[in-house]
Amino acid sequence: MDKIKMTTPLVEMDGDEMTRILWQFIKDDLILPFVDLKTEYYDLGLKYRNETNDQVTIDSANATKKYGVAVKCATITPNADRMTEYNLKEMWKSPNGTIRAMLDGTVFRTPIVVKGIAPCVKNWEKPITLARHAYGDVYKNAEMKIPCAGKAELVFTAEDGSETRELIHTFDAPGIIQGIHNTEKSIMSFARACFNYALDTKQDLWFATKDTISKKYDHTFKDIMQDIYDAEYDEKFKAAGIEYFYTLIDDAVARVMKAKGGFIWACKNYDGDVMSDMVSSAFGSLAMMTSVLVTPDGKYEYEAAHGTVMRHYYKHLKGEETSTNSVATIFAWTGALRKRGELDGLSDLMTFADKLEAATLKTIEDGKMTKDLALITSLDNVTVLNSQNFIKEIRKTLESLV
Ligand code: NAP
Ligand code: MG
Repeated sequence: MDKIKMTTPLVEMDGDEMTRILWQFIKDDLILPFVDLKTEYYDLGLKYRNETNDQVTIDSANATKKYGVAVKCATITPNADRMTEYNLKEMWKSPNGTIRAMLDGTVFRTPIVVKGIAPCVKNWEKPITLARHAYGDVYKNAEMKIPCAGKAELVFTAEDGSETRELIHTFDAPGIIQGIHNTEKSIMSFARACFNYALDTKQDLWFATKDTISKKYDHTFKDIMQDIYDAEYDEKFKAAGIEYFYTLIDDAVARVMKAKGGFIWACKNYDGDVMSDMVSSAFGSLAMMTSVLVTPDGKYEYEAAHGTVMRHYYKHLKGEETSTNSVATIFAWTGALRKRGELDGLSDLMTFADKLEAATLKTIEDGKMTKDLALITSLDNVTVLNSQNFIKEIRKTLESLV
């Protein structure tokens, strides 16, 4: 059988620990036998990041800007323990943070829905995608404890030295204050990333804030989204048969619980942090959550939402058997291959991505799965497989489909 040809390389970002092991299994067993794989390889494993003073992370983000599509393995974000474990020169920053800052993107997280793993919310028939604005608000705040009576004010000093003041509160006893910010540029990028993603996936887009209470801050988010929608996207949405709608965050939460799914829920930074964990756990498992970073100018970086599964890796190093779920990492590869196929007009590459996803889901639906899913499935006659055998079973299913 001829292998499927590619024309433009994918940016391949390798990673750490258990997911690095899965990465190789996935390539060897599920991709290389079928696709004449072209990648530009960047080793974001912590060892090599340390050797290159993290230059490799910057290079991989630049390559993503150049080629447009990347697939990333989970990576370690160093902490004090990792400094000694890897003998690091510096506590390097989170690669995801570096890449996100360079690409100015929005993160979309979607659960992978499979028969036999039912969402806790029984009316959720289709996945709900969370779009999280990943800049500013409480994540870049300034805070103060107020020790005694006094007056707290917001002060803005313009470049010409003129001041604008707004009273926060007149304290008659100790208290607390917080200052947060965002920028129009970042909100505009977020808006375009959300609208483009909705068009790309042909799903309705919901956005919600608390603009009735926050008449300037949250209202600015609402206005920027609406202005960009009206000016640039209204006709495209109508042509695609999808809808943008804004509502209050408390109304959105109530509607989400009653909805069937199949839409994108765009959230401000804090709401997105909280709601994405709620949605992913209600859909079943972190190991079944895909994540894609989309930039305003249409570059894509696909990854799994989970980390490097350190606990399993340490077992693996001791020679013990592991049953680590590779589904989200497989879907990172299929997402990237499909997007590459779409951009390069390679329909057989897109079809292959569809088939690999179908084979992965069918394997689980046939009762063959890793331990994390076996613990929550409603299927009978389940076979629990180790990390490698699960991938080998997917290979068998895939061969029956191609
Ligand atoms: P984690 O890798 O997400 O794993 C936490 C736990 O969740 C695991 O111990 C496991 O539970 C379960 N789990 C997650 N993914 C699984 C999978 N594919 N199959 C089966 N079970 C899975 O988080 P962590 O262990 O706390 O973090 C490890 C490293 O990942 C850290 O260094 C962190 O910096 C990094 N991290 C990277 C990313 C990223 O690159 N995107 C994201 C988050 C964290 P049981 O042990 O109970 O089986
Ligand atoms: Mg969180």
